[in-house]
Amino acid sequence: VAKRLEQFKTTIFTEISILALKHNAINLGQGFPNFDGPDFVKKAAIEAIQDGGKNQYARGFGIPPLNAAIAESFKKESGITVNPETEVTVTSGCTEAIAATILGLVNPEDEIIVFEPFYDSYQATVSMSGATLKTVTLRAPNFDVPEQELRAAFSSKTRAIMVNTPHNPTGKVFSRQELELIASLCKEHDALAFCDEVYNKLVFNGEHVSLASLDGMYERTVTMNSLGKTFSLTGWKIGWAVAPPHLMRGVRLAHSYITFATATPFQWAAAEALRAPDSFYAELIKDYSAKKDILVEGLKSVGFEVYEPDGTYFVMVDHTPFGFESDVAFCKYLIEEVGIAAIPPSVFYTNPVDGKNLVRFAFCKDEETLKAAVEKLKTKL
Ligand code: GLN
Repeated sequence: VAKRLEQFKTTIFTEISILALKHNAINLGQGFPNFDGPDFVKKAAIEAIQDGGKNQYARGFGIPPLNAAIAESFKKESGITVNPETEVTVTSGCTEAIAATILGLVNPEDEIIVFEPFYDSYQATVSMSGATLKTVTLRAPNFDVPEQELRAAFSSKTRAIMVNTPHNPTGKVFSRQELELIASLCKEHDALAFCDEVYNKLVFNGEHVSLASLDGMYERTVTMNSLGKTFSLTGWKIGWAVAPPHLMRGVRLAHSYITFATATPFQWAAAEALRAPDSFYAELIKDYSAKKDILVEGLKSVGFEVYEPDGTYFVMVDHTPFGFESDVAFCKYLIEEVGIAAIPPSVFYTNPVDGKNLVRFAFCKDEETLKAAVEKLKTKL
């Protein structure tokens, strides 16, 4: 293994999903729905495959109707008009957008600020770029941005800050004030912002604000999103990045040599998906609120300290009342003895001690599954 990857292991999501299968546990670990995306989107993919002419390499940075649909929804969400031909790139999921952004815009002498806990790909990709990771820890119960620590993390070497809002794994939605603080520090230190907003349609409390929409930020921001979470199609791996041309150049170059392009028929279907009426998103929130309530109430009733999420389809809890020495030990017991798989969050911290009392559960599952999981917790934990 190359030195830049030596410290990493198989991702925790793969590890836990394999264990869940082995122990026949209800999988509330890796964040993927156990139901399919909407029929109108699946139908569009089937038609694209059958029509002919839509099964060869796509244009590297995205098929024109998808780039246009992304530009349109970005305008709707952030108020910013972008050129679909020069400011939008379609990638293989947001995870590739993150890799193309970091590898395309960051040098080994740079520092990248990341809030922890973080989605594990951030750390591995920063390591592949050769840059140095600087972390700022968000702490329970509210996971607020610690202003002094954030100020101290910025330096003349800061190339960029990664901002994931709504935030995986905590379910935090960054407030406008927190984003204003980040924006002012980016401007003061001439730093970029790399924003992962894949859960932007899953907000239960408060509002999602794109950092790019704040004054003077679009020109220094790469905003990333994907189809997977919003449309329950995580296996399609359709994601994208939106950025001004001077930043998009680097992102596109990296993307050209990482994957070159992504699945053509799914891009046609994604263009269709992004034209969903507002009622689709309202229904999504209604469904997910009900799922969240089932799991949150269930977890509270068995004695966890629950940090109720404002967004995403994850909930973080503190397992201290059950007397286990670590999140890994607790999750092992949960899979083997209770029959529920969850994610031990210590892997999302540079110092694993910070995550040792926490556990992350996913509620992107049908209600019956969530109720069965709560029942198991009640009888077996
Ligand atoms: N983002 C998903 C999660 O946090 C997992 C993605 C992956 O498996 N790499 O569960």
